[in-house]
Amino acid sequence: MVGSHLKSLNAAKKKRLGVNMNKDIIEKLFPDALRRIEAGRCPICAEVIKPEEFRTELDIKEHKISGMCMACQQKVFRVD
Ligand SMILES: [Zn+2]
Repeated sequence: MVGSHLKSLNAAKKKRLGVNMNKDIIEKLFPDALRRIEAGRCPICAEVIKPEEFRTELDIKEHKISGMCMACQQKVFRVD
């Protein structure tokens, strides 16, 4: 059924902001970082993540990978 497939796709899109990294690996390497991510904080600066601080889909995508806040993403990925 195409209809139900589309429905689950839309549900996935509506899922709230979350971090999808491999927690087992992160927990071993960076236990502090994981605790911060699970508390809704940036693993680098420990600031509370506010979904509205992300301006583009790419910002959100990066946050989901690294858990970093917008400010730390800018520091890490700045090219100058
Ligand atoms: Zn940060």
